[in-house]
Formats: sequence, C-alpha cells, structure tokens
Amino acid sequence: MKQIDHFIAGKKTAGTSGRFGDIFNPATGEVQARVQFATRAEVRKAVEAAAKAFPEWSSINPQRRARVMFNFKALVEKNIDELAHMLSAEHGKVIADSKGDVQRGIEVIEFACGIPHLLKGEYTEGAGPGIDIYSMRQPLGVVAGITPFNFPAMIPMWMFGVAIACGNTFICKPSEKDPSVPLRLAELFMEAGAPAGVLNVVNGDKEAVDAILEDPNIQAVSFVGSSAVAEYIYSHGTAHGKRVQAMGGAKNHAIIMPDADLDQVTNELIGAGYGSAGERCMAISVAVPVGEKTADALVQKLRPRVESLRVGIPTDPDADYGPLVTAAHREKVKSYIDQGVKEGAELLVDGRDFKLQGYENGFYMGGSLFDRVTANMKTYQDEIFGPVLQIARAKDFSDAIALPTNHQYGNGVAIFTRDGDAAREFASKVKVGMVGINIPIPVPLAYHTFGGWKRSAFGDVNQHGPEGVRFYTRIKTVTQRWPKGGVRENASFVIPTMK
Ligand code: NAD
Repeated sequence: MKQIDHFIAGKKTAGTSGRFGDIFNPATGEVQARVQFATRAEVRKAVEAAAKAFPEWSSINPQRRARVMFNFKALVEKNIDELAHMLSAEHGKVIADSKGDVQRGIEVIEFACGIPHLLKGEYTEGAGPGIDIYSMRQPLGVVAGITPFNFPAMIPMWMFGVAIACGNTFICKPSEKDPSVPLRLAELFMEAGAPAGVLNVVNGDKEAVDAILEDPNIQAVSFVGSSAVAEYIYSHGTAHGKRVQAMGGAKNHAIIMPDADLDQVTNELIGAGYGSAGERCMAISVAVPVGEKTADALVQKLRPRVESLRVGIPTDPDADYGPLVTAAHREKVKSYIDQGVKEGAELLVDGRDFKLQGYENGFYMGGSLFDRVTANMKTYQDEIFGPVLQIARAKDFSDAIALPTNHQYGNGVAIFTRDGDAAREFASKVKVGMVGINIPIPVPLAYHTFGGWKRSAFGDVNQHGPEGVRFYTRIKTVTQRWPKGGVRENASFVIPTMK
C-alpha cells in the first residue's frame, strides 16, 4: 500500500507513530494509500526545522523572496496537469475543477510576488523638531496552517504563499483525506529555490493539531474547516498565546428578485449549487425566490436541470461533478435529506439512490432539490455540504434579507436582480462577509481579501490580500532623532506632546 509521509527540513520524512489514516479513491471506493499521523515529537521536529530556517529567510531582502515565489508560480503552472489529476484522485472533483483549485492558488502566489511593495512601511518626516517616525512590518517567526479537504491546492497556497513571502517559515497540516497535493507543492517550493525548513508539511489528526496549537515556538495559526473545529482552534490557539484566524462553515443564500432573468439565474444556481458536488464553502445551498410567482417559475426551470445533472468519474470531461470525498461524508449528506423529508420540506428531486454504472462502490450522489424549506428546520440551519439545493420562499424583499442575516453562518450571499437600488440596499444591510450582485460565487480575487462573518470566521483578520499581510506580520514603529553635536536637554518628567 502506498504510504504518504511528512515533508520536514526539505525532505520527505517517514512517520514513526504507527498510526495512519486511509486515503480513498472516491471514484471507486477503494483505499488507495495510507497517510502517516504525526506524533507530538514529529511536529516538534518540523517546528525546529522551521525555527532554524527563520533567521536567514526573514533577513534576505523581499525581492529575493519574491523571486522564489515567481519560480514557484512557474513550476506550479508547468505541473498543473499532474497536480490536478493527483487532486481529483483523492478528492473526487472533476479535472477542470481541480485545475481551477490550483489556479486560484497560483493567483495568491502572484499576489505574493508583489511582497516588496506590500511590505513597504510608512514614514513621517519632521514629526517633531528633528524627529522622524517610521513603521515597518516584520514577520512573526514560525507560523502554521491547518487546511480542509475541499481545496487541497488553493487553501494551503492562500496561507503559505502570503506567510512565506512576508518572511515567516511555515508548517502546513493538510486534511488527512487528500494530503498529496500539499506535499507535492512543498517539493516544488524547494525546487523553486526555497531553503530547507521554510515550508514543512506534517500530516496527522487532532494529535498533530493540538501539538501545533500548544507549541510555544509557533506564533500564529491559520485554519480553514468546519465551524466546530474552527471555534476550538481559535479558543485553544489564543489560550496558548497565538494569533489565530479560523474560517468555518457556511450556508450561502441566493436571493432571486422578481425582475431577475430566470434562465440566467437557473444556470448560476446549477453551477454554484452542484459544482464540486456542493463541497465548497462558497456553494449556493439556499435559493430564496421573492414572491410566490418567482418561486413557482424558478422551480419549473430548476427541477428538470437538477434531474439531468451528469454525475461521473473525475476524469470524465462530460461530468458536471464527481463523487463525494468519502462514504462517511455521503452518508451524512443522505441523512440530512432524510431529515429534511421528516421536517416537512418538499423533496422535488431525490439523488440519494444514484449509482454510477461500473462504479457502484464509488461515493456518488445524484443532485437533490428541496422546496418549501423554512428557517426553523434543522436542515436549513446546518451546513449540508453536498449536492443539495434548498428553496426557501420569501414573501418580500425584507423577508429575503432577513434569512441570510439571521442565519448562524455568514460566509457568502448573492442577489440576482436588475434593480440597482435593491442590490445596493441588500449589499449594505445583509450581515454576511462576501456579497455577490448577479455573481453566484463571490470569492474575491487574491489581491482582495476572503472571509465570512458570524460562525463562518473566528478571529478578526481575513485570508490573503492586504489582510493576509497584516495577519502574518507585526508592525513596529520607530521614532528617531539625531541631535546635533553638543546640544543637550534637561530631563523632562512630562509626557512629550506636540502642543
Ligand atoms: P474539518 O473541520 O473536518 O477539518 C479541517 C481540518 O481540521 C483538517 O486538517 C482536520 O484534520 C482538522 N480537524 C478535524 N477535526 C479536528 C478536531 N476535532 N480537532 C483538531 N483538528 C481537527 O473540515 P473539512 O471536512 O476538511 O472541510 C469542510 C469544511 O470546511 C466545511 O465546513 C466548509 O464549509 C469549510 N470550509 C470553509 C472555508 C472558508 O473559507 N470559510 C473554506 C473551505 C472549507
């Protein structure tokens, strides 16, 4: 059986714990490899390697660090086919979507290539008599990232791309479900010219995560995953004195106003609801048509499209989406559908019994569509994270704004309308971190910043963009004076002011 190791101090390092996780091939249901679960001592080894690399890496000039990023970007681009196939084989998403996952990561690396400009500080000449003030951003030291299964290329690059460009050294703890891509990225990063120890990958489960959260040499932890774990990471990490940003789950609504172009909306909902089998934190999971007439017309258009979704193996170029990541996750999604039926929602399309011919043991599901979902239902309140779209009918515009605003999650939201005034009011009032206006998946580009509100994010600072640079640096402000020879002042016991 193929074994997946760690990557510490610039080389693949076999684990010693004797504990492993199974890596499935979601397309066939077979176990294809096993991944090492690190001990605390192995995490410590990675921290030591990163700490050893920090003084040199943080002191080379930012332009040279940017050159490593440029090289890395070129290498990831050159190897995108290999990375996308590796990703699809463990995750199950279709190849074109895996390429998108890698590409969104490359875009963060492109942003990180601008690090000399991003790290420039501020300067005030003559803030007082002969006094200048300047500020600089300095890296934190050893930092860590803990990543989810659903974007095994993009999310590690969100984190280490910015952190390492800022001068930090990094430990990545990928999802135990699909760790091969982060490991391959670490190899490519070395090939790009990074010194050993700058980027380390430690595989594992809660034991490795706790070792990271409690290690006194790790200065900051970035996390993306489900909300219960994000909350734990935030509270446990901050209790151990770390800076923590922890992104959690989501329930993204799409508001459909009566004036929206329903053919366009249907296309957008099908792609954003069922792409990647709904396993995206920015997937649309609730459609909110405003008014009964809009709702009835939308259902008429959506239903046949959901019934005709093409589910296939990840390498099938005609497949809309592939299998779910594991059998356990598929069972969880199915049990939410069972529960939705019990709660009284109307199941218009039922994808629970779908089997892909020739791949009966793969983790496939057909698309499901619910109508008449209401805010008191558990299946509305929870994140399902599967190929399931729920329709929650709103009586009017204010009812539609209230649904995402009052939901426990606040990652993304979209509104479809031709009315600029309504869109503007919606964007201003809705309590959600990322808003799309006639855009179903409003994932900001790398030079803006990504992050939700409420239980979708714990901590104050977002991922990538200028906020990412803030997260991975500390500001230092210097006030300087160079007195002319011979001039002396008496001791002053009063706080200096600019009066
Ligand atoms: P998950 O929370 O199960 O796992 C995420 C990471 O946490 C993994 O590395 C895992 O090993 C680790 N982990 C799991 N349980 C742990 C525990 N008890 N203690 C310590 N560490 C633990 O999430 P997942 O299933 O891999 O990913 C899907 C989730 O991630 C969804 O909820 C999705 O919405 C969310 N997500 C959010 C964003 C965002 O930016 N808000 C982006 C992508 C995914």
